[in-house]
Amino acid sequence: MRSIEVLGVTIECLQGDIAQQPDVDAVVNAANARLRTGGGVAGAIHRAAGTELEEECRPLSPIRPGEAVITGAGRLPNRHVIHALGPIYGQDAPSQALLAECYRNSLRRAEEHGLGSIAFPSISTGAFGYPIEEAAMVAMETVVDEAARLSSVRRIRFVLFDDEALELHLQAMDRALGA
Ligand code: ADP
Repeated sequence: MRSIEVLGVTIECLQGDIAQQPDVDAVVNAANARLRTGGGVAGAIHRAAGTELEEECRPLSPIRPGEAVITGAGRLPNRHVIHALGPIYGQDAPSQALLAECYRNSLRRAEEHGLGSIAFPSISTGAFGYPIEEAAMVAMETVVDEAARLSSVRRIRFVLFDDEALELHLQAMDRALGA
């Protein structure tokens, strides 16, 4: 794990599974519009959370690209799941602005609930096809930019699934700080 601090907010990057982050208040789901289980992150989260999470999601769906909604966490070891719908690359436009909205709106939901910590996967970079190097830059710039506006959230974690994703996020972290 590597971390930096921006205006009192710790930003961490580590390799791992978003469904196994017991030390954060909320995990973010790279959701689909209907808030159902699926492949990738949504599959891992819903499998670990159990069917009660899908039931809780049903009345909140569908959601739009860039939107984020918050629920309980079922059997996950967290207090909440924040479901964010990333843009499908090349289809939902403007993709960069919509991806940034996912991170901003997720942080907003966390703040509304007074949460202290949140973990993000790399939204849109799996089935939705967003090039991960560009997505990592959007993610880091957005959270660094939002740090000044946060009051309850003191820790933001990026959970990356493989070596390459971790490395690209570490580089983006340095670049977002102007290092
Ligand atoms: P999207 O539909 O938004 O593209 P995906 O779930 O398909 O979302 O993939 C998003 C990213 O999350 C990809 O980079 C993928 O490799 C990664 N990923 C897949 N499963 C997990 C997991 N269990 N924990 C963390 N990251 C994951």
